[in-house]
Amino acid sequence: MKWNPLVQSPYVVTPGEGPFEHVIGGTHDCKGGWCPNCDHPITQILTLDLRDPVLASLSLPDSVLRLLFCHRCIFGSKPFFYALLQGDVRIERAKLKTPWEDFPYEDYPTSFAPLHARLEPLSAADQETITRLNGGEITWEDLPRELFHLDCAKHQIGGEPYLLQGREDLNCCACRRKMQFLAAAADGCSDPRGFTGNDFLQVLFFICIGCNVIGAVQRCD
Ligand SMILES: [Zn+2]
Ligand SMILES: [Zn+2]
Repeated sequence: MKWNPLVQSPYVVTPGEGPFEHVIGGTHDCKGGWCPNCDHPITQILTLDLRDPVLASLSLPDSVLRLLFCHRCIFGSKPFFYALLQGDVRIERAKLKTPWEDFPYEDYPTSFAPLHARLEPLSAADQETITRLNGGEITWEDLPRELFHLDCAKHQIGGEPYLLQGREDLNCCACRRKMQFLAAAADGCSDPRGFTGNDFLQVLFFICIGCNVIGAVQRCD
């Protein structure tokens, strides 16, 4: 199947200072960004600074794009959709489950301290390797040791990230059209326990530019 990223070139979201204010984790106070199930702010996974020319194709009226996901309450394969409303959000569709106690782990925080990040281009050779891994043409056993890191989930904008469950589509909950891939989020953040405590888990964020809707799905290895 055809993989359809909005941002054509791949960028790894890498901790460190850069010219723009991309953030892994952090807090938000956007209206509508509250999980009605666990009664906490929906966890901010990534914040993208839309002044970065890398993100020009998003052409959103907002200054930042917040990628939100509640790991307490959204698990399994059902997508989570929310509309972008000029800095605020509105949950469009979410299948929420009552969280188990201490899920995803004990003393789960209501937010994660912000970790500043920059967008590092992924080389064409690395992108090709990831594409071949995703397509099943090669496995990690075909890789030299120094490329083993490509066979794992990372925070990535655009291109085709390493996909724990292969390529997939997501249709917009509003217009039903196929959404475009926007970003993949892995587990790493400012907390050594991670967003979920599971390195073999990722959230794929898709976008419908026509409707200004984000769709997110959680995938595990
Ligand atoms: Zn929740
Ligand atoms: Zn749509």
